[in-house]
Amino acid sequence: MADSSVTFADVEAAARRLEGIAHRTPVMTSRTADARADARLFFKCENLQRGGAFKFRGAYNAIATLTGDQRRHGVIAYSSGNHAQAVALAGRLQGVATTIVMPKDAPEAKVGATREYGGEIVFYDRYTESREEICAALARDRGLTIVPPYDHPQIIAGQGTAARELFEAVGELDILLVSLGGGGLLAGSALAARALSPGCRVIGVEPEAANDGQQSFRAGHVIRIPVPRSIADGALTTYIGASNFPIIRAWVHDIVTVSDRMLIDTMGFFAERMKLVVEPTGCLGAAAALSKRHHQPGQRIGVLLSGGNIDLPRYGELLRGGAGAVT
Ligand SMILES: *Cc1c(COP(=O)(O)O)cnc(C)c1O
Repeated sequence: MADSSVTFADVEAAARRLEGIAHRTPVMTSRTADARADARLFFKCENLQRGGAFKFRGAYNAIATLTGDQRRHGVIAYSSGNHAQAVALAGRLQGVATTIVMPKDAPEAKVGATREYGGEIVFYDRYTESREEICAALARDRGLTIVPPYDHPQIIAGQGTAARELFEAVGELDILLVSLGGGGLLAGSALAARALSPGCRVIGVEPEAANDGQQSFRAGHVIRIPVPRSIADGALTTYIGASNFPIIRAWVHDIVTVSDRMLIDTMGFFAERMKLVVEPTGCLGAAAALSKRHHQPGQRIGVLLSGGNIDLPRYGELLRGGAGAVT
């Protein structure tokens, strides 16, 4: 079985590598949120992680497990933003040179942060060019090792450490809601849940317009979709990874969707009530919880707030709900 390639032991090993380096992010609660969801919600604040998203966990773990030779030559990654920042930061902390392939319409905050962390940026057009091909060509020409955003055992293991910390902090849960793009966070979270809270239902949450994961989950094989449009820019992946899918198929209980409108309402809730800046993609799980569609009253629900990186002008525009806010 393909899922034997990553196990909870790999998540534990990643947790040891990240000890004292990644933040052990806080778990926040809110009576207002609980009342709205008619449940007990535990928000794991990966928007407060280094680099502003859980992606630092996987990136650091993947670079830490490279050979000395690979580290000397440097690494390359492609990303719409958070993985880019994470690889640039993880590379800098480990003395490894990083090259990042980014879409030219990536949010300015994410481009700027990647640059600040010392990553060399190469831009491409996400609607006409293949980032995988550009990345592969650069890797070949410059002898760089590719650190993929989700389809990699050490990335999955690293991402699983967030849910592991959540279970350690709050004990067993009835449900765990996880943002889903390419499936690194969801696969890692499922491994952690299975080991630490076997009765917990693990649910992936996607934007309505980017429901390739839901389609794939129902079909039993990976389905690819055209590049979707949603304000959740961290979940605009077109298919679930080959190493991620078997784990998701085996240990995830459902994949559900939320609308961009629900993401905006949820972002506003976090800003106003909890004083938390959460980016649209980071709101996927919480929006599903607040919709009350996927749980029973009174259940204990873990929610991974996966990231908090968003340009301030864009943030203001979305919260005002002005014309063109939802694309
Ligand atoms: C990357 C990302 C996701 C999706 O993670 P995958 O591992 O690709 O499924 C969700 N939320 C945020 C904030 C992200 O940066």
